[in-house]
Amino acid sequence: MSCSLETGQVSIRFYEELNFFLAKDKRKTRFKTQFWFGDTIKALIESLGIPHTEVDLILVNQNSVSFSYQLKNGDRVSIYPVFESFNIASLTKVRPEPLRETKFILDVHLGRLARYLRMLGFDTLYANSYDDETLSRISKAERRIVLSRDRGLLKRRIITHGYCIRSHNPSEQLIEVIKRFDLNQNLNPFSLCLECNEALLNITKKEIQAKVPPLVFSRYNSFCVCPACHRIYWKGSHWERMRHSAAFGSI
Ligand SMILES: [Zn+2]
Repeated sequence: MSCSLETGQVSIRFYEELNFFLAKDKRKTRFKTQFWFGDTIKALIESLGIPHTEVDLILVNQNSVSFSYQLKNGDRVSIYPVFESFNIASLTKVRPEPLRETKFILDVHLGRLARYLRMLGFDTLYANSYDDETLSRISKAERRIVLSRDRGLLKRRIITHGYCIRSHNPSEQLIEVIKRFDLNQNLNPFSLCLECNEALLNITKKEIQAKVPPLVFSRYNSFCVCPACHRIYWKGSHWERMRHSAAFGSI
């Protein structure tokens, strides 16, 4: 069967972890695919199952282009994920500038990950009542990175910064996020309430004497309180273990 007049063909290759999203026969290989004339490169990438938030650099015939590039017959396209160690500063990255502060909003199925991120001090909004519309709106208004396992959500145009979580395991999910956003230097454990995401306040030992178990009172010296829910936190062995494990890539 020949191509209709409205479609063209390009050759395309996805690199590194972007292969995760592709059908098996398209992984780690250059393949040919059809497009409709007038289609942008963004539309083609997403039609192949890859959320635009995963892509950091697009080369067409060796030149870097933006998401709005309109495909031409015979284009040779190469798609790259976010680079961690390869300097591409001189090329045009497709995504807007990085968000200054690393803040997250999590999809409804990531409750455990939300607590882990708060435990390490990252501002993380989570509620199991958020629908896709609400998540997208808050992400834009508050400049928050969307974390989700739902590719459909991450394909929404309104979402400029997001990451598609691969693992089902919350501990592995945390490691994924730390690596992807290079957060190792920004850990600030013992700073946020795990339940409310509120900044914890220091409180003197004397003030909490009646509110914590005697053993905890005698063993620990640093205590904090959440101004919203009044939970009391102390720097116990769990915090130390968490911080140590996060720094070394296994929790
Ligand atoms: Zn709280």
